[in-house]
Amino acid sequence: MSSFNNYIKFALDIKDQNIVFEDYFFRLANGYKQKVYQAVLLQPSCPFCGSQELRHNGRLKTEIRYPAANASQPVIIRLFKQRVWCRTCNKRSMAQSDLVGKYCCISQHSKLKILSALTEDRSMTSIARENNVSVNTVQRVLGSCSHQFSSSYDYLPEHLAFDEFKGVDRTLHFICLDADKHEVVQILRTRYKKAIIAYFKKFSPAALQGVKTVSLDLNFYYQDIVRACFPKAEIVLDRFHMVQMLTRSFNSLRVQVMKKFKKISREYKLLKSPWKLYLKKYQALDKIHPHYNWHYKDNLTQEQIVNEGIACSTELTNAYNLLQAFYDALAAKDPLAIKEVIHAKEEVGWQMHQTLLTFKHNLKAVINGITLNYSNGCLEGFNRKIKQIERTAFGYANFHNLLTRIRLAENKVKEKEPSSLLAA
Ligand SMILES: [Zn+2]
Repeated sequence: MSSFNNYIKFALDIKDQNIVFEDYFFRLANGYKQKVYQAVLLQPSCPFCGSQELRHNGRLKTEIRYPAANASQPVIIRLFKQRVWCRTCNKRSMAQSDLVGKYCCISQHSKLKILSALTEDRSMTSIARENNVSVNTVQRVLGSCSHQFSSSYDYLPEHLAFDEFKGVDRTLHFICLDADKHEVVQILRTRYKKAIIAYFKKFSPAALQGVKTVSLDLNFYYQDIVRACFPKAEIVLDRFHMVQMLTRSFNSLRVQVMKKFKKISREYKLLKSPWKLYLKKYQALDKIHPHYNWHYKDNLTQEQIVNEGIACSTELTNAYNLLQAFYDALAAKDPLAIKEVIHAKEEVGWQMHQTLLTFKHNLKAVINGITLNYSNGCLEGFNRKIKQIERTAFGYANFHNLLTRIRLAENKVKEKEPSSLLAA
């Protein structure tokens, strides 16, 4: 081996002994200055019988894309693959290398680089540009990774969390997460009851019985799914959703009360602009420092604003007290206090009454949500991540590509995948 050959192989990080570099030069192609390295791929023995009695039968010229340090100067390896004819077994063969797949002109190095770029928050166009390949190639590398999150139907995590997110074509997809490890168990294209039940029914009975809790938001057919699929699971209602429901109904009551007053009245202004204060915990309100507000033209502390605001209506006062009692019970994880709140008899307005009724119907799930440590918080964070992936790509048209990208972002696929995976 010449030292010239060794230098190039060292620089390009190519270890295949059968590749021998002969020449290098620049050329102009498609308006780019390309760096071309010319090499021969030797076929030392017959791949069928191992014999070295070979007759050379020409060579195939291939041009392989290789990662470049400078993206404006693409690197091409012009590889001549030897074709041989075995004298022993009379079979023909052509030299192959780990550098590049059969019938392929993009090196495995490039594909691995594309794959590792796909795990980052980057668009496929930018990856394609950096690696001097087409967007289609990037998509093919993405497609060569599996989009399956788990292939085995023998195991399910003990604690699951269900939710949905907006994905391809603005439809909602169902997502199921491991509530302990915060890993995706499965993402399904639709969120319909039938499809979800059909999916979970594929699991073995032992796996289904192993599920202990499922946390949900208030999409009620999810509860039917839990009852249909997991015989031993407890339903956990997500506590953030409970708070959200209560605060929403409180807000609509506040607006109702507010609209009974004239727009120029002090009551209207006290109920309108400082609306956020009503949703705060009472303990967290500022009780000492008054601030001047030009809306109601007075110097008031936060506590004074809230007290004067809720005094406008008894319903509003009751609803406010109930909301605060709910916050306290939630913080104390006290199931008895929650029961008391839910069974409160005071007038709290129609919306809040409806919310409480909903809670009453799902009392067990509500109490689980308050006392157990599982919630959909992990899912909300995960959904944010998915949104970011979609935003970077300006949306996905292909559901499997989206799944693979999510899976890559989760780092489920290691950079050094077996090369079979990359035989795109
Ligand atoms: Zn042979």
